[in-house]
Amino acid sequence: MAKKAKTAISPTREQDYSAWYQEVVKQSDMSENSPVRGCMVIKPWGYAIWENIMHGMDALFKETGVKNAYFPLFIPLSYMEKEAEHVEGFAKECAVVTHHKLEAGEDGGLVPAGKLAEPLIVRPTSETIIGESMAKWTSSYRDLPILINQWANVVRWEMRTRMFLRTSEFLWQEGHTAHATEQEAKERTIQMLDVYTKFVEECLAMPVIRGSKTPSERFPGAEDTTCIEAMMQDKRALQAGTSHFLGQNFAKSSNIKFQNEEGKEAFAWTTSWGSSTRMIGGMIMVHSDDDGLIVPPRVAPSHVVILPFFKKGEDQRGIMDSANELKDALEQKLYHGRKVEVEIDDRDIGGARGWDWVKKGVPVRIELGPRDIANNSVFLARRDEASNQKNSIPRDEFIDQITDILDSIQENLFQRAVDFRKENTQEIDDKKEFYKVYKKSKGYNNGAFVMAHWCGSDECEETIKKHLSVTIRCIPFDSPVEEGKCICCDNSSSRRVLFAKAY
Ligand SMILES: [Zn+2]
Repeated sequence: MAKKAKTAISPTREQDYSAWYQEVVKQSDMSENSPVRGCMVIKPWGYAIWENIMHGMDALFKETGVKNAYFPLFIPLSYMEKEAEHVEGFAKECAVVTHHKLEAGEDGGLVPAGKLAEPLIVRPTSETIIGESMAKWTSSYRDLPILINQWANVVRWEMRTRMFLRTSEFLWQEGHTAHATEQEAKERTIQMLDVYTKFVEECLAMPVIRGSKTPSERFPGAEDTTCIEAMMQDKRALQAGTSHFLGQNFAKSSNIKFQNEEGKEAFAWTTSWGSSTRMIGGMIMVHSDDDGLIVPPRVAPSHVVILPFFKKGEDQRGIMDSANELKDALEQKLYHGRKVEVEIDDRDIGGARGWDWVKKGVPVRIELGPRDIANNSVFLARRDEASNQKNSIPRDEFIDQITDILDSIQENLFQRAVDFRKENTQEIDDKKEFYKVYKKSKGYNNGAFVMAHWCGSDECEETIKKHLSVTIRCIPFDSPVEEGKCICCDNSSSRRVLFAKAY
């Protein structure tokens, strides 16, 4: 009998999903803990993935007319106090700056001095300060719409943190728009959700469910919060992006007024939308396996790694030349607007070299030794296939087909995730059955996305959350109208909503 394959990551997903996740992050060399609790250092391999996400999304934003700008890190306390619901939602988790200098203390250390008259908040999000600028920029309907995005860091004081998924400081983009009409603002809200959907599905290969949040899960101050939700391999949901219709709430508190076409004064209608480094956490949990990270080719820092093999006394120079020629040939190819990125790893560290790249999730690994060169072939391994599965293919064929191979990996990852979600989504109409699904859903092998009826009451939503730690992730846009009974209270309901445990 064959020996059970040893995995590169320990524990495995099945043994301890949460520890597996931390280990995948560590072994892929994406990020590490920082001296500041709750904050992370993003290392080059992780940051390059973020850069690819930024470039990809930025282009899609700009196609819709959005322009980038930058606003201050600090927000005066009084700005945060303007929008009542916003205050309620963010009051508890902000970093507050109260002093503006340091002085030598009596014990030789440094002590904060120069107390500020008004405390400054390190932005948890920028609606209020951007609203202030928009008010200044808007006097006539001709000044609208204003379509702004900023790439920035934000701080939300989290007590329980996890790399990429929840950190006190994280990187994100926040879009803010102001419009003359309600209709236009609502359309923009959905347009930006469409952009997130396209990017997350096409580039991160993560299938998502689109819908609206329930009132209790809305962004503080929003009239409608739309979102995309993806299933992780432990069947929990992760919100990968949100787009909010803010009505006139922020326009009124920030005084974003304009003269409309009839010459009357009116308040603007605003939206905001955001996505963050959390998407990387989602990408890790959707695709990776017990051998480590798997990065979809569209966002991979490198597409191909070439591993030259030679023994002492062999023609090392000849093999390295051949590896460099292969790299040059591949880098002539364009893959979705980027050149195919190739690394050559000639470190003399034995088997650990190949495993390093498996754990980093590079899509294609190429082994190149004297025999391959003599045969004019390469030994190819794809990260979406088992790590011991390798095929010899003619070198020219490989060069010709590299972008097709990358596309095939990308599609395979997406399809795998679609199938997995389908297998683990159920419609449930019986309360006992519903409770049973989640009561035993402690480990990696249990749990599900459940589509069930909900009467619309906060009480039922709260009860289920309290009993099972399960929340309504969204009211899916494509959930058909159908008669049913609330899974919690049996009252009538007209459509199913998506329940899941969530990150
Ligand atoms: Zn109910």
